[in-house]
Amino acid sequence: MEMKYVCNECGKKYDLKSLPFRCTCGGLLNLEDFEFQFSNKDILKDEWSLFRYIKALPLENNCNLWKDISMGEGLTPMVPLNNDNPNLLVKLDYLMPTMSFKDRGAVILIAKAKELGVKKVIQDSSGNAGTSIAAYAHRAGMACDIYVPQHTSEKKIKQISAHGAVVHVVKGSREDTARAALAAVERGDGFYASHVYNPFFYQGTKTYAYEIYEQLKGEVPEVLIIPVGNGTLVLGAYYGFKELFNLGLISKIPKIIAVQSQNCAPIYKSFIEGKDYVQETVNTGTLAEGIAIADPKRGKQILSAVRDTQGEIITAPEDDIPKARQYLAERGFYIEPTTAATFAGYFKYVKENNYHPEGKVIIPLCGSGLKTD
Ligand SMILES: *Cc1c(COP(=O)(O)O)cnc(C)c1O
Ligand SMILES: [Zn+2]
Repeated sequence: MEMKYVCNECGKKYDLKSLPFRCTCGGLLNLEDFEFQFSNKDILKDEWSLFRYIKALPLENNCNLWKDISMGEGLTPMVPLNNDNPNLLVKLDYLMPTMSFKDRGAVILIAKAKELGVKKVIQDSSGNAGTSIAAYAHRAGMACDIYVPQHTSEKKIKQISAHGAVVHVVKGSREDTARAALAAVERGDGFYASHVYNPFFYQGTKTYAYEIYEQLKGEVPEVLIIPVGNGTLVLGAYYGFKELFNLGLISKIPKIIAVQSQNCAPIYKSFIEGKDYVQETVNTGTLAEGIAIADPKRGKQILSAVRDTQGEIITAPEDDIPKARQYLAERGFYIEPTTAATFAGYFKYVKENNYHPEGKVIIPLCGSGLKTD
């Protein structure tokens, strides 16, 4: 059966080969549900990357292009944050080839683009997604243009150009940057390898769920704490656990608590107001640059996913971010401020709600501290 894109707004379907990046109605594209069989015995135990779940991934059968592109991404360790609490686990997603979880999505998106014959990709990012796309695109032999906002950390910009991409620094906000990249795509400059628009990215981030499933031997965590800007990890984790549930491999879908920055919290705002769509807000400045997304294009989907898990959206107090970063560093984990924000948000939640989870709580360490100052 041929896989298709389907518009999130009007349901119109598109061939993958026509390389659309959104619907003519302006809606974002999802991947149409595809059938696959997957159980424990389908895990490729000798493949030490997220491709051990290849049976659940939407790549061409009999096509091994991914083998030339993979750098062993995924399969990250999951360990207790503190020895005295075996239930609070951190998943070390900063231990990836380009030092952030974005490699999960980028490797699948680029492998698919390669299958579709793409020669040049364009992407915009606040840093880590651009780095990841740049690395995999170059490995796949594609040209790559990455658009970043002017306030992106110097180190991330250096890393992107080191991978062989052309970096366009856009004067203005993250949203201006997205508009500049879109204009280039509309001019016909290349394939839009966007982690926001392209649904294959989410097929990669869903392996976060498959790994937790394998690492916990099927035990369902009580809650997943996940940072949310554009929602690539929130939606990926949700899709992954939903698939595992639909396959009959787990008894329920874990609750997702998503964390926004206090100073840029459009999804949080809609959540507490009980709305089912998200309005653009203004980023008033935050250390958590990786989640500072004022206009999250998949806001509606994020709200509905979080609500479907009986989850919540919370915010990270800005002043607590440096403290949380230090707290993690003193436990051996050197992570970037955006990741510290996830903890700042969770610690506040625990305190305010007197929260004593009985099951496992899993928090991802999304980006390396070496990426920022
Ligand atoms: C991208 C990123 C996030 C947020 O992911 P979204 O897809 O925007 O929700 C969080 N932390 C780090 C380190 C990131 O790179
Ligand atoms: Zn449409």
